[in-house]
Amino acid sequence: MTDAPLTDLSRRSVLGAAGVAGLAALAVPATPADAQPLGRQGRLPKRVDVVVVGAGLAGLVATDGLARAGVDVLCVEARRRVGGRVLNHHLDGGGVIESGGAFIGPTQDRIAALAKRFGVRTFLEYNDGNSVYVSSTTGRMEYSGTVPPDPTILPDAATLLTRIDQMASEIDVSAPWAHPSARDWDAMSLGEFIRRNAVNSSGVGNLIKSWTQPGFGADPDELSLLYTLWYVACSGNEENVGTFSRNSDTADGAQERRFVKGSQTVPIRLARELGDHVALGAAVRTIEQRHGGVLVHTRRGTVRAKRVIVAAPPPLVLDIEWYPRLPTRRLQLMRHLDMGQLMKCDAVYKTPFWRDAGLNGFGVNDSGAARAVFDNSPASGDPGVLLAFVGGQTWRTYGPMSKDERREAVLAGFAAMFGDEALEPLDYVEHDWTKEQWTRGGPTAFHAPGTMVDFGPAIRTPFGRVHWAGTETATYWSGYMDGAVRSGERAAREVRATL
Ligand SMILES: Cc1cc2nc3c(=O)[nH]c(=O)nc-3n(C[C@H](O)[C@H](O)[C@H](O)COP(=O)(O)OP(=O)(O)OC[C@H]3O[C@@H](n4cnc5c(N)ncnc54)[C@H](O)[C@@H]3O)c2cc1C
Repeated sequence: MTDAPLTDLSRRSVLGAAGVAGLAALAVPATPADAQPLGRQGRLPKRVDVVVVGAGLAGLVATDGLARAGVDVLCVEARRRVGGRVLNHHLDGGGVIESGGAFIGPTQDRIAALAKRFGVRTFLEYNDGNSVYVSSTTGRMEYSGTVPPDPTILPDAATLLTRIDQMASEIDVSAPWAHPSARDWDAMSLGEFIRRNAVNSSGVGNLIKSWTQPGFGADPDELSLLYTLWYVACSGNEENVGTFSRNSDTADGAQERRFVKGSQTVPIRLARELGDHVALGAAVRTIEQRHGGVLVHTRRGTVRAKRVIVAAPPPLVLDIEWYPRLPTRRLQLMRHLDMGQLMKCDAVYKTPFWRDAGLNGFGVNDSGAARAVFDNSPASGDPGVLLAFVGGQTWRTYGPMSKDERREAVLAGFAAMFGDEALEPLDYVEHDWTKEQWTRGGPTAFHAPGTMVDFGPAIRTPFGRVHWAGTETATYWSGYMDGAVRSGERAAREVRATL
């Protein structure tokens, strides 16, 4: 579906709109809020000032920053849609949910400002009532706040989270490798840190997986401690130091809000405004720096530019052929920044029935397919939708199963939290980002132990006339939509200064 031809996407959108507006609308269909832009048609220009690679949020924002400054800029995108890791899904019975990036929260100022510019409203994630915790040792309990009050875990969780916040507060978000303990922290995994500092390390480690699996698509043993601390430090802005709770919470945290018509409405509206500055179906195969310029060879032809901004995820940077070859440090960095493994599994119900039982739809389970669950109903609450993030080790167990087997496991997880009504959804939809050719996983690329101090400093260093954007290059909210926007703004400023 993601890479469907433009005609299919347009048809789906137009029919969706017609369903709402009735037959009269079929004669003169209104443009749906998230109809894909067509982008530039015909031949690409032979020469521009700047080529931007990738029309995710980062690439589009970089293009916008340059176009508004009067620079002749062209954004070339491999897919036949914009938004990258941000993708709307239209439910059969009406309503929009997201298959990729969805939530925003306090201090995510740049994505919030962009959405406001295009009139894309947000709504509060449903958060009335209790959350649910299901433990294979202590059973099911309802709770409020950040951490489930499991007596076997709570003391360790309190100590660890306080330490993580304290260590993160010492980190310079633009140079985590400069911290005096950086090398020691980088050599250690988050899992090892938990084992060294917790009494019931397997219990609290298991709980922390319900944060790392959706948050990184990875487990604590796969993540560099330094990288994890930096990620927490990045969960803020220039005025507010990052904290674990701002990263992990719904109330006052990164999961506070969603977009009324789906997050992809933001990049779509931006791309529509950019018009001919965006070319779809133009995968970049080769980038050649020579004779004082850059040749960008795309599926739709070659464009010569003075400067290039690459805003593609790290694994995709490695798929491009580079002449001259990428500098060793950059190459090593890209090789060490692999994507997490993550899919979203949603069950659709006539109503959000859990709300009647005083539950907010958020749940954590220490086993099974549905380890981290959210209320993913559209703003209207009609229909009701439950979302399970299936990431990291949980993805490795359930991702390779057949869709029917996975559906059964996910619904069983929902039922363990919200009762047997969860076993009978009207619909079940899922999106596996590891299968996306132009993304290869999600939500972000992360540092494994021992890779951030040695290779991380190359993250924003230009390679000749090539500059870097993308959420992984951000210094606040790296890994998030906000980080993508910030990185695009920074890259546009960087390139403007050279022209
Ligand atoms: C399941 C999931 C859940 C998430 N949840 C959240 C959330 O709730 N909140 C949040 O803020 N963030 C979330 N994120 C993360 C967020 O979506 C990303 O951080 C952000 O969208 C990244 O934007 P980007 O522009 O940096 O990269 P991308 O969106 O990956 O854009 C890169 C673009 O480059 C294109 N490209 C790649 N290679 C080439 C090539 N060779 N030539 C041309 N084009 C190319 C790709 O097609 C893509 O369009 C989630 C992500 C996923 C996958």
